[in-house]
Amino acid sequence: METTTVVVVGAYTGQAYTVYRHETLGCWTYRDVRGYGPGLGYDRDRHATPEGAAKAALFRDILRAAEGDWSGLDRAAYEALAARLDLPVTSDADLELGGRRSYSVRYGEFSSPEYPMAVCAEMALAKRRQKAIEAAAERREAKRTLPAPERLPWGARGVRYDEACAACGTETVIDNDRDVCKRCAGG
Ligand SMILES: [Zn+2]
Repeated sequence: METTTVVVVGAYTGQAYTVYRHETLGCWTYRDVRGYGPGLGYDRDRHATPEGAAKAALFRDILRAAEGDWSGLDRAAYEALAARLDLPVTSDADLELGGRRSYSVRYGEFSSPEYPMAVCAEMALAKRRQKAIEAAAERREAKRTLPAPERLPWGARGVRYDEACAACGTETVIDNDRDVCKRCAGG
């Protein structure tokens, strides 16, 4: 049994949260439009007043906005979102592989109520920036390990006899790959 009392709209995502009293537990809490709310096993998620639950819902909204769709963020987008949510930023150097916060951002499980919502949001944002940094590093690595283009000697893949050399226009024995005669190919 519950008494619906107030709907608050998150300032960052624009999502609505319904603040209600949980009669059985005798506390105030909230749920989002899909019906999800905090688990009520922890005291800190059981609020004595509707104001307390509303405040928690709005704080949850910051986390939602930080998580977004979990897509990677370029530096500018990361800093802009952090500024909008009033969250601290981490330098790219600290997020890169081997960086000071690289490991904790990558493997840390930052969830409420074990961690304050602001920390969860900060880490979610850092994870998204790290994701983009790693994707860029992977692209660079893929490029680096790409085999160098083969430089075959003239005629290595056969020659043709019925076309003029693309360079001199006179010789008619030309390389299948380069369309030039042996002299024009420099070999
Ligand atoms: Zn030629």
